[in-house]
Order: sequence, then C-alpha cells, then structure tokens
Amino acid sequence: MRRLPIYFLIDISESMVGEPIQQVEEGLATIIQALKTDPHALETVYVSIIVFAGQPKTLVPLQEIVSFYPPKFPIGSGTSLSKGLGHLMYELRSNIVKTTYEVKGDWKPIVFLFTDGVPTDDTQAAISEWKNNWQRTANLIAVSFGNETDTKLLGQLTENVLHFKNTNVQSYKEFFKWVTDSIKTSSISVENNSSGFELAKLDGETISKIDLTKEEPNKQYVDDNYVVLSGKCQNTKRPYLMKYRKNIAPSIYAGIELASKNYKLVGAYQVDNNYFELADNSNFNNKVNTEELFGAPTCPCCGNQIAFAVCVCQKIHCIGDEQISTCPWCNNQGSYGYGEGGFDVNRTQG
Ligand SMILES: [Zn+2]
Ligand SMILES: [Zn+2]
Repeated sequence: MRRLPIYFLIDISESMVGEPIQQVEEGLATIIQALKTDPHALETVYVSIIVFAGQPKTLVPLQEIVSFYPPKFPIGSGTSLSKGLGHLMYELRSNIVKTTYEVKGDWKPIVFLFTDGVPTDDTQAAISEWKNNWQRTANLIAVSFGNETDTKLLGQLTENVLHFKNTNVQSYKEFFKWVTDSIKTSSISVENNSSGFELAKLDGETISKIDLTKEEPNKQYVDDNYVVLSGKCQNTKRPYLMKYRKNIAPSIYAGIELASKNYKLVGAYQVDNNYFELADNSNFNNKVNTEELFGAPTCPCCGNQIAFAVCVCQKIHCIGDEQISTCPWCNNQGSYGYGEGGFDVNRTQG
C-alpha cells in the first residue's frame, strides 16, 4: 500500500499562546480521531507534526494513524519560518519513499502550514530551496490564522494561501473539519489515481482563499501585532507569558486625526520550561513602554496578585504580599513599590 504523507508545520510562537494553541491541539486530536474511522485514510494516510518558534522540532515523526497519539503543543520564542521550512525539508528528504523502477513510492506529500504571525528572520533562502526542490513534489497549503500574517510571503511558497478567521470555538471546529475532509478526499483521489490532492470545498465564511495580488508586502523582524512579555513565577519558578494585542485607537489632536497605538491584555499563560529550548538564540533586544500596555494580569502559575514586577536585572516576575521578594531570574532580593509613569520593558519576538 502506498502511503499518503501528511505533514503539519505549526507555528508555536508566543503569539499563538492561549486560545489558538489550545484549539490547534484539540483540532489535531479531532482530525486524527475522525481519520481513524475512515477506511481510506486509515490505509494510506501517515501523519507527522513539526512545530517551529525560534527553533524547529519534530513533535511527531511520520507514522500511521492507528498508532498516532495526539501530542501536547509547546510554546517557544520567535517565529523562524526559515528554520521551520528547513526542518520540514529535512524530514521530507529523510522520510519520503521515492518511486523507482523496483518500488512504487509514496504519494505526493501534503503539507499544512499554520501560522498567525510575521516571520522574525530572513526567509528568502528557505523559500528558494522550497521553490527549487519541493514545490512540484509536495502540495503545500498555507493557512493564515487571523488577519496579521504576511500573506505575500506565504504566496511565494504556494498558490494555496488560505485565510482562517479564528473568531470563536465553532469556527475552529469548522476549520478542522475542513482539514479532515481535505485529507479524506485526497486519500480517496490518490486511490483513483487522479491528482492525489483535493481540498474540501471552502465555505468562504470561516475559511477563504486570499487574493495574493492585492496584498502589500511587508518586511519586519518583530511580530508587532502582539506584545508578549515573558516572566517567571517567584513561587513555582515556572515561566509564563503575558500577551497583549495591538489596538489602534483613533484620536483627534488639534483638529488632526491621529491613530495612536496601544496594546490590550489578552491574558497570562503558564508555559513549559522547554519554552527556552525553542527560542531563537540570536541577540534580541526590543522594548515596549508600559504606558502603551493596558491591563495587568495576576500570576498564572501561583495566583499572586501582580505578575508584572520588574527586577533590577530587567526581567519580569510575580510578587505577592511578602515584604522582601526574591527575583527567580537573578536571586536579587528587594522590596517593590509602584513605579510612577511608564518605563521600558523587554518584549519577546512574538
Ligand atoms: Zn507566581
Ligand atoms: Zn532579577
């Protein structure tokens, strides 16, 4: 039986923290569950999951559906699409069985790329490699989660760039059903020896195709759609992330219309210690002023009232009602007061 390899290449950068990554986690589990009851898929489909933040990682190596167990998704720092793509191509090279005179190889692999942001590194080399070596031997579907993705860039990889409006839980359900249906129809069409790749019908409401001729290119190395700050819990020593979403507030000053930018709190989330392993090692120093940030969360690890205390070492941790606090980053001890006005803090790459 020839295999139909399905690769999921998933952005697990900080901006995915919270609802998006939870929904992807559950969504992948429902896809596998549904495929397990589909005779065509069960026979031909093999699945692998690759994640990328500042670093890439194979979360699930290519395997048959029967033995597939849905993984828990980590969160990492940065969005290195080039390393994600590089790792995908490495996996494809190592795993795909080519057709020769003796052997009938695998069907054309299908890659689903999910990303919600802007790459934080230069992607041109990886994109050229993809164009030269893989664009014709694999089918790639790039799915933009939300409105903030660099779709022009994704359009260089594939003509299948889709926009998923991740508005609520129901839209995630519909989206993952669409992915499941696409895998099912593809597994049937390879059996019939036709194209071997057939996306399910788009409803145009939750998922729609992006007109790539209309988008303006943008190039930047910080994902500015979110501000994400990383902190460490004083009590549990666990890392956590505080996520703020960009908000453009129109204001009028001296009769001139201005748009002032600020960031509104989405939430605070505990992350695993491997957050640091999946981070980009390059020197990154980008600041945001606290006056631009609206909302202050409690610590998601221990429930301390204030998650946003900044130590002299410039790093963020939580504080409770103790007299003397100990910074979990540098072990400096001190008492904290409320600062006057805004101050700069380090933000993550997103
Ligand atoms: Zn804490
Ligand atoms: Zn410190």
